[in-house]
Amino acid sequence: MVDLKSQYQKIKEEINAGIQEVLDSTAFVKGRKVGIFQKNLENYLNVKHVIPVGNGTDALQIALMALGLKPGDEVITPTFTFVATAEVVALLGLTPVLVDVDFDTFNISVESVKKAITPKTKAIVPVHLFGQNADMEELMQLAKQHNLYVVEDACQSIGSVYTFSNGQKAQSGCMGDIGCTSFFPSKNLGCYGDGGAIFTNNDELAKKMRVIANHGMDVRYYHDVVGVNSRLDSIQAAVLDVKLKYLDDYIKARRHAADYYDKAFAGNPKITIPARSPESTHVFHQYTVKLNGIDRNDLQKVLAQKGIPAMIYYPVPLHLQKAYKTDRYKSGDFPVAVQLCECVLSLPMHTELEEEQLEFITECTLILKNA
Ligand SMILES: *Cc1c(COP(=O)(O)O)cnc(C)c1O
Repeated sequence: MVDLKSQYQKIKEEINAGIQEVLDSTAFVKGRKVGIFQKNLENYLNVKHVIPVGNGTDALQIALMALGLKPGDEVITPTFTFVATAEVVALLGLTPVLVDVDFDTFNISVESVKKAITPKTKAIVPVHLFGQNADMEELMQLAKQHNLYVVEDACQSIGSVYTFSNGQKAQSGCMGDIGCTSFFPSKNLGCYGDGGAIFTNNDELAKKMRVIANHGMDVRYYHDVVGVNSRLDSIQAAVLDVKLKYLDDYIKARRHAADYYDKAFAGNPKITIPARSPESTHVFHQYTVKLNGIDRNDLQKVLAQKGIPAMIYYPVPLHLQKAYKTDRYKSGDFPVAVQLCECVLSLPMHTELEEEQLEFITECTLILKNA
């Protein structure tokens, strides 16, 4: 699914030099590299504050902690996604309110959000799934109308650009009150361990989140709020600072692979290619097709026999997961998410896919087209 080895080989000298610098400094935590990477990422994203943290899940948790919500407050988030979003909501004693997604884009359905808003709703956490921004214009309008916070889960979408109807452009994660991303190795900007970051243009929230991420401490050993310990270490920052320079090239390589897949499957009634939203660029964290009239298990097996991995993101929607089942949902809820879980398949997608590999993958995928 990913080829981190080939990617590393191409930038080995720069990466090794960056890591060596940290080793020589022995400033493993809060070293110079962290500050440098933070500034460079702020410039790339054109956002006022980047707060580096330990991972993407921490980023989401710290973001929600900064909003001053009370137990029982409701946070709306999609049911078709990775679990982290709903998890941190639940961990904080807030109530996750899951909603359905759009069949074409896989992203949170604005209509579903509208129906889920109650007097207890305090925030919406859209996930820009697979690398494409959710419908932020409508979500921000809705949030404004109902006085809700918007925390973007941009763990899969860093570098994706959204264009509002007035022509204004914004980077993924920099449109809501707060944005969160992950630098997990397989993410579009991945480090060599765990890492994450929070984005915001709001000075007050930025200050709060820096304090929360640092044991609730502004002045050393004086704890004003309950915090956590979450930081990006210097070695990861060194890796990320090198890779950030290549992020646009990496996005291009992913798009090239996606274009190749698109062409190969175009017009095939049994394989629906991922829809591209007119408002958002796509950075293809995943290339996910929908199968119709092809047995997914059979296809996965055929591909596996040829040495091609293909993964199901995600097999079970969150509202049907044991940990998140509640009386709030009834059978038949969220039909789109349920259907997607049954028909999606993600093909290999990374920065190092060669033309030959793409040809092989698409040929093997099409073997079953008449099955
Ligand atoms: C990866 C991911 C996360 C969590 O990031 P970690 O760094 O693994 O904690 C959260 N949300 C989404 C949508 C993700 O893809």
